[in-house]
Amino acid sequence: MLRVAHRLPLTEAEGPGRRFALWVQGCALRCPGCCNPELFEGAGGEILTVARLADELRAAARAHDLDGLTIVGGEPLEQLPGVTALAEAARAAALGVIVFTGYTWGEAATLPGFERLYAALDTLVSGRFDARRREPDVGGRRFIGSTNQRLHHRSARYADPDLWAGPAALELRIAADGTIALSGDPALSRRVLPVLRGRGPRGRE
Ligand code: SF4
Repeated sequence: MLRVAHRLPLTEAEGPGRRFALWVQGCALRCPGCCNPELFEGAGGEILTVARLADELRAAARAHDLDGLTIVGGEPLEQLPGVTALAEAARAAALGVIVFTGYTWGEAATLPGFERLYAALDTLVSGRFDARRREPDVGGRRFIGSTNQRLHHRSARYADPDLWAGPAALELRIAADGTIALSGDPALSRRVLPVLRGRGPRGRE
């Protein structure tokens, strides 16, 4: 089982290429300036089976010609068994897997079960978001919040630095019911959200 906050069947703003993105619910790390404070609460979101999420992932991969899965949060390592099972299902479907964690590599490596998760990943992005060390708009890394965060490439799939270079990106989706959803760079979201809230029914980061 996984406690899930949001999921997107297709995004190009949460890692290289076309991806399914899943935000887990719950994070005890609570970095100052985190762009997802609504995901801190461990009792929120909805509890879904990994089997259901894996079915959704495979269907999205077929429908959208996806390259991979990104798991972000919230804190994925607080739900290691479920995150590992979903990563393994993605890997079995020949999809690339990226996980963003607020744990440092040293912290993550001490967690029981982390080794099995890492074996199912292509790339782990580690470290707390540090608002004092944001990635610069120009010359910074895409998809990464702050300069202290580290990329660990277990495979060569996303190891090319060019995949992580470039300007920050923001995606905006407007559903048939008028719901507006943003994903991608949090700093851009913060600039755009007040505009959208003045014009649209609702928005979320
Ligand atoms: S680890 Fe991630 S989700 Fe948790 S507080 Fe830090 S930036 Fe936010």
